[in-house]
Amino acid sequence: MGILYEEGSRRYLDALSTYMRRRIKQGSQANVESVKHIPSALALRQRPSVPNERATVGTMSETFNVLRLIFSRLGSPVCPNGHYLKPSLEIAKAMSKSGEEMGQLTCPVCGEKFYAPSAEEFAFNSDGACEECGGTGKVRQLDESKLIVDENLTIKDGAVASWSLPGRNFMPNVAEHAGVRIDVPFKDLTAKEKDFVLNGPEKKYKMDFLSGTGRVFHDFNALYENAHQAVIRSAQTSKSERAQKRIAEFFTYSTCPVCHGSRLKPKLLKQLVGGKNINEVANMQLGNLPAWRDEVLAKLPDDMQKMSKAVFNEMIENLQPLLDLGLDYLTMARSGNTLSTGELQRIQLARTLRTETTGVLYVLDEPSIGLHPANVDGLIKVLRKLVAQGNSLVVVDHNVDIIKAADQIIEIGPRSGELGGKILDQGTPDEIKQDKQSLIRPYLDSTAKLFARKVATKLILSK
Ligand SMILES: [Zn+2]
Ligand SMILES: [Zn+2]
Repeated sequence: MGILYEEGSRRYLDALSTYMRRRIKQGSQANVESVKHIPSALALRQRPSVPNERATVGTMSETFNVLRLIFSRLGSPVCPNGHYLKPSLEIAKAMSKSGEEMGQLTCPVCGEKFYAPSAEEFAFNSDGACEECGGTGKVRQLDESKLIVDENLTIKDGAVASWSLPGRNFMPNVAEHAGVRIDVPFKDLTAKEKDFVLNGPEKKYKMDFLSGTGRVFHDFNALYENAHQAVIRSAQTSKSERAQKRIAEFFTYSTCPVCHGSRLKPKLLKQLVGGKNINEVANMQLGNLPAWRDEVLAKLPDDMQKMSKAVFNEMIENLQPLLDLGLDYLTMARSGNTLSTGELQRIQLARTLRTETTGVLYVLDEPSIGLHPANVDGLIKVLRKLVAQGNSLVVVDHNVDIIKAADQIIEIGPRSGELGGKILDQGTPDEIKQDKQSLIRPYLDSTAKLFARKVATKLILSK
């Protein structure tokens, strides 16, 4: 599996330009004599990386892109004087114009000209981002109680937590230089000393000091950062994920008071579709969106039906693989970093289907993990579609229904892990059913009851 992926992705990268290649970390060359007949490979990893705080189910699956389009074209914009305009073909047409003319409307009540928000403006990762929280829906506040580790410690022994952040290890020396005692417990310092540690002014001190490694620095231009600043500055300048994680521990997070977690500029929430704003729809379960579409379509005028249906069809097309994979309970607004690995993997799979790539080998590691048995059919449907788009799939799985659906089965056993290095059997499901060697044969023809995870099976769905 690893070899297939490494060799496949190496070929994929070879096909890219040198420029692109330099920007992608390349896998090591597979340690085997030769690997033949492999197309470019993309693996859908069993453990997708944790999405950043800006990713939501809607952005990851791209369903939110279509929702933004729906809101800009089919919505009821509000003029600066608070008059609601009914959705109309004219509005939809104005929204699809380009340049200066795009979105320019005239209020039929007060006659004022104004611009209605475009699909781009509904994006919380760019134009539409709430100005208070920058589109994350959360605000963070420095938690003062976390700045001092333990009042009984001396500064020398690490009482100030933020001074142990990378690049701040000389801060105790600077404080000492400025007259703060660093060898008495923090609680015994004078109010003035404590205040200097917590709130002292940012200032450069010319001083000599001995580093932890025994090096002496003469006339070192040391910039003093108090305990607060050390956190704020680190947060602004640290690039590494590990450092940011440590920094994050100094903060407490709460829902943004301006957008109330919607991530969007509040004025964007005034525009409604079917009586709901974009945040309300983003918080609906995905499984309820087809019914919402029907509701909205029923309210729209006849001359808007054709174009509205076309936009909604795009949304449903985006949505269907997610529903097939049993993700109907998620919402578009759900943060990516709160999803389980299985959920992330399925969103990734649904998105892959949407990109309509062709001629690619997908290497999938146990896509059925965490999937409700009722959704295995949906998974098979999605896998079949990928094959129909002209791709090949190598899937490692233990699920009998998935194994039965393969074009080719490679049975590897007799056990898992190190004991499972031998190919026991290979063939179509029908051929395997005839073969007495096969350990999975009884499961395929249902003469034996299934007990999970006894055989590792590789199966191939191919073009
Ligand atoms: Zn008006
Ligand atoms: Zn906000």
